[in-house]
Amino acid sequence: HLDRIAEVDDAVHAFLHVDAEGALEAARSVDGDLAEGRQPASPIAGVPLALKDVLTTKGVPTTCGSKTLENWLPPYDSTVTRRLRKAGVVILGKTNMDEFAMGSSTENSAFGPTRNPWDRDRIPGGSGGGSSASLAAFEAPLAIGTDTGGSIRQPASVTGTVGVKPTYGGVSRYGLVAFSSSLDQAGPCARTVTDAALLHEAIAGHDPLDSTSVNVPVPPVVEAARQGATGDLKGVRVGVVTEFAGEGYQPGVQRSFEAAVAQLRELGAEVVEVSCPHFTYALPAYYLIAPSECSSNLARFDAMRYGLRVADDGDHSAEEVMSLTREAGFGAEVKRRIMLGTYALSSGYYDAYYGSAQKVRTLITRDFTAAFEQVDVLVSPTTPTTAFRIGERVDDPLAMYLADLCTIPSNLAGNAAMSVPSGLSEDDGLPVGLQIMAPALADDRLYRVGAAYE
Ligand code: GLN
Repeated sequence: HLDRIAEVDDAVHAFLHVDAEGALEAARSVDGDLAEGRQPASPIAGVPLALKDVLTTKGVPTTCGSKTLENWLPPYDSTVTRRLRKAGVVILGKTNMDEFAMGSSTENSAFGPTRNPWDRDRIPGGSGGGSSASLAAFEAPLAIGTDTGGSIRQPASVTGTVGVKPTYGGVSRYGLVAFSSSLDQAGPCARTVTDAALLHEAIAGHDPLDSTSVNVPVPPVVEAARQGATGDLKGVRVGVVTEFAGEGYQPGVQRSFEAAVAQLRELGAEVVEVSCPHFTYALPAYYLIAPSECSSNLARFDAMRYGLRVADDGDHSAEEVMSLTREAGFGAEVKRRIMLGTYALSSGYYDAYYGSAQKVRTLITRDFTAAFEQVDVLVSPTTPTTAFRIGERVDDPLAMYLADLCTIPSNLAGNAAMSVPSGLSEDDGLPVGLQIMAPALADDRLYRVGAAYE
């Protein structure tokens, strides 16, 4: 895999940092265990992995795609990183992303965009485009992403790979540099559903270092993938979300989705239509809640504690050093979010914006609860279009935000969701994804249905 990275990553730019030495050391240690007849630490011991650059790695650069953290070396591993190491997984390096995970194309990275291996003039999705592109370019067989509004699933969809956003609280956020704390969730990315399940099991589970980590058994995802792989979905009830279709969806995406639903039926699933009327308001609610939390979380980048510091020459006050550093360190999208969030949280506007958005969030959660009384999982296209061209949406933030239309409701409700490859679009021959959504703590249902479908 290191050779493959050397061969193609100049063109793909999935990685921000390749840790060849660390990877070889980890691989040798697994080899040593095997040579001495010891049991491998996990079923994925020795398997290489690409890690999104928003999860801390002790002594290995962690930039979050931002100039602000360009030279930062974390003093500690995130819980996800630590669990990967413990499972014997070989971390190849850190992958490119939109700055602080804000974006849908990886074009907001301060270090240049990642290219979609299917067509290098197109985006690989975002914010975790580096992780998904590394899978699609065969640079790594496993990757980790994070998903606040769709950043695992949308890149998976447009690169023809599998991506899972676990239930909120299912995977520890300790050492995941926070964007929107009530939405952020790390999860597995892979080329098959079973690979994703094995990775899910390695990283999930209670962590006392994260106060929002849930203290319940990890859903039996590997077992569910095995069961699903038999291709039998008899007794499984699938709901098609009626709000996620029609105008705004590319015809090829729509047709692929209809074919997917037909296939689920053939596998024995009982398919019904389900209306979730408040899902239409998920996007506007998200763009109040996520920027609000971001404006608070990113206040820690104050030029004193981490990373970049400019104008530290004795001629500037502490306040000037802070504001000039934030001016120099953050890109346009991050600044836009901080301004939006600060505005939405300001006294006098709080109830009208943030308060209303939180109420909408509750209505969306109730839509899910009502839907899951009728069905086991919900399905929709993962994203309304296939991969768009690099540059096409950079000057139009609203068009960019639309990429996450279908993925955001699961984040707002804290539920589990997966994107699984659903063939190639008839329009342009590019990958399409099927989104499967399950209730909180029922992540195993995604794997059963996903493995049967793929
Ligand atoms: N594209 C969405 C945003 O820009 C989601 C990002 C994410 O899931 N990290 O906020």
